[in-house]
Amino acid sequence: MVISEFVRETAKQLGDNARFEAELMVMSVMEMDRTRLVLNGKLPVMPQHTYRMNKMIERRKKGEPLQYILGETEFMSLDFFVREGVLIPRSDTEILVETVIDKISDKKTTVADICTGSGCIGISIAHYKKNTDIELFDISDIALETAEKNIKRNNVSERVKFYKMDILNEYPKKKYDVVVSNPPYIENAVIETLQTEVKDYEPRIALDGGEDGLVFYRRITETAHNFLKKGGLLAFEIGYNQGESVRGLMQNDFYDTEVIKDLNDNDRVVIGKLK
Ligand code: GLN
Repeated sequence: MVISEFVRETAKQLGDNARFEAELMVMSVMEMDRTRLVLNGKLPVMPQHTYRMNKMIERRKKGEPLQYILGETEFMSLDFFVREGVLIPRSDTEILVETVIDKISDKKTTVADICTGSGCIGISIAHYKKNTDIELFDISDIALETAEKNIKRNNVSERVKFYKMDILNEYPKKKYDVVVSNPPYIENAVIETLQTEVKDYEPRIALDGGEDGLVFYRRITETAHNFLKKGGLLAFEIGYNQGESVRGLMQNDFYDTEVIKDLNDNDRVVIGKLK
């Protein structure tokens, strides 16, 4: 079998979205980028490649997210490692990152990324705004290990540090210009209704926002005056139906707020300036 047939055969076994996923899997197994994959379509496939591909196809057919199988994903046009135990970066979250990048001035700016997971938010801000110093926080060791690898992969080690912290019981000890967070925000009862790929594979700790989904927003808005400078920005990603609730929490605690919608016209980001 040659590479082009290998892609076709893989796609046939995968079903939906097959060609795209098959290409990514073959690129990963053969360690080739897309250009080389296309140019080398006539080269033979080795037995060890077929063997590894069959393992990947098996995992995918059981419903495991492609990103975990590949061990990486793209976010903000950058590459990030992911693994089971860490939330897969979502394209929706790019809106949060773009909003923050737009609002950051060209002066030296310190940023805290709370519940950082893979580190995708803080690391992207560091990559696109060189005048930033970023601190990533998470309670999960797997998340922090992954974030550390992603800091190195994206060459931002000098300006991005990471710390273990349980935001529900403590908070950062210094004050930042910007606090950004995409915390767990799914209501308890809703988690069971999510698609298999999310519910059975992604970490519950990264999804679970308590009974009303607002536990992390409540805690962070209540304590942020301890770690956000006056005039600083607090920026959250939120669920499509949480705009008014989160805005309410922030206004109670002295922020000028703005809600930003995603491409589907759902509320996606709430940003507030601490008065
Ligand atoms: N901040 C990370 C992300 O956006 C993880 C979020 C989470 O664990 N809820 O991917």
